[in-house]
Amino acid sequence: SPIIVWFRRDLRLRDHEALAAACATGRPVIPVFISDTLVDSLGAAPKMRLGLAVDHFAKLLRSNSSNLVLRKGDALTVLRELVAETGAGAVYWSRLYDPQHKSRDTAVKAALKQDGIDVHSFTGHLLFEPWTVETKIGGFYKVFTPMWKSVRDRSLAMSLRTPDGIASPDQWPISESLEDWHMSAAMKRGADGLATYCVVGENAAADRLQQFLSEKIGRYVENRNIPGVAGTSGLSENLTYGEISPRQCWHAGWKALHDGHAGAETFLRELVWREFAYHLAHHTPRLLTGNWKPEWDAFPWNTNETEHVTAWKQGRTGVPFVDAAMREMYVTGVMHNRGRMIVASYLTKHLLSHWKIGLDWFADCLIDWDPCSNAMGWQWAAGSGPDAAPYFRVFNPISQLDKFDPQRTYADRWIAEGKANPSDTAQSYFDMVPKSWGISKQDAYPATIVDVKLGRERALDAYKTR
Ligand code: FAD
Repeated sequence: SPIIVWFRRDLRLRDHEALAAACATGRPVIPVFISDTLVDSLGAAPKMRLGLAVDHFAKLLRSNSSNLVLRKGDALTVLRELVAETGAGAVYWSRLYDPQHKSRDTAVKAALKQDGIDVHSFTGHLLFEPWTVETKIGGFYKVFTPMWKSVRDRSLAMSLRTPDGIASPDQWPISESLEDWHMSAAMKRGADGLATYCVVGENAAADRLQQFLSEKIGRYVENRNIPGVAGTSGLSENLTYGEISPRQCWHAGWKALHDGHAGAETFLRELVWREFAYHLAHHTPRLLTGNWKPEWDAFPWNTNETEHVTAWKQGRTGVPFVDAAMREMYVTGVMHNRGRMIVASYLTKHLLSHWKIGLDWFADCLIDWDPCSNAMGWQWAAGSGPDAAPYFRVFNPISQLDKFDPQRTYADRWIAEGKANPSDTAQSYFDMVPKSWGISKQDAYPATIVDVKLGRERALDAYKTR
């Protein structure tokens, strides 16, 4: 009988254990993608980007004489229908680890097993299963560096082979049309503009990794902090949709390390930050929903959508580093890591606004949105998270700009106001923002909404009286 391989955040053929295992049986394989409430509830940009990923993957499967069956609805109901229609005896998938996917998958697995279906979940979204990484006294790591030290020398097996062939069923079940799902419908800024920045699919992701290793890794340690330079891999976008596996990145990083590339160790370390986020979310799901350190529940965060918050979202705070980064995210769907740290610090400290406001806005705007890295990043910046930046360490967005963007390459790329010849990218922001924001290229650059020094003092006062 056929095996259904349920694809979710693993839209690739290479290093795919569930697919390889299904193909190895020699039985017909039915690849399926289901748009359920978890897909439906995605933010605008990640949903649109997922649509591109699914479309691309469906074409890849077709060019491998297979197919991707698309269905919308409750995952268990859809899988039961497909089992009934096709006579499938097994369902395979790659495990996910964030609380929402985990609880859905646990329920689906139990119900299908009760129906007598053979259900297998496989590794693939992470380097290390969360339950295999423990401190010496037991329990999970709450601090990054010891976790990094404990895993960095582990060897990782990888099945890089592409299945030789994916056997088809005698008859394909009916598939819905991706167009009817309107994955870009929530995009207020027009999906086409953002799509030009997306690098979609497993071949493009592999090229990106190669380009990073051949051109950027040697200067990664310095350049990864410079937002004006494209000095990082850009792979977060592809890792999010599983267009490349973390193991493929890890192996390539190890090879580069042994070839003597200075930045390779830092790259491997960054991949483990992603693991750290997932392991924390696995063990403490509240990472995604509330202050990881409960003592922060008493902090007087502002939870309202104030004028200042609106200015922050729109990249109009009058603080160039903050505004450049917010505009970069709005236009391209990604933001440089240093930008993420600075805008998050500014929102939670200078504006005293709750980190969840920022978390939600990122979840709407990022094409590399990842539930665990995003939550960890926000709680790190706010001070409420594991191994977080101490609250009293408030980033100064002015001196940060002097340090990391001394030539104003980044600021000029994203801020048009007051420039005789603004860059195309800076102008494109004005073309993309919704009319309802009421802003235009002719506007003067906004005055600073909160004085950087006073904002810092106010944040520290709030911290003392917490
Ligand atoms: P590279 O420097 O090339 O790093 C390689 C890979 O390591 C990345 O692709 C990513 O998978 C991982 N990585 C690097 N830095 C981090 C980090 N700090 N935390 C976790 N993993 C990391 N990353 C996301 O993928 N999705 C998010 O939604 C997200 N939200 C964030 C929110 C905030 C407030 C902050 C401070 C950080 C957030 N990050 C998020 C982490 C980080 O900014 C991005 O992973 C990084 O900028 C991606 O660029 P890159 O792929 O070129 O990274």
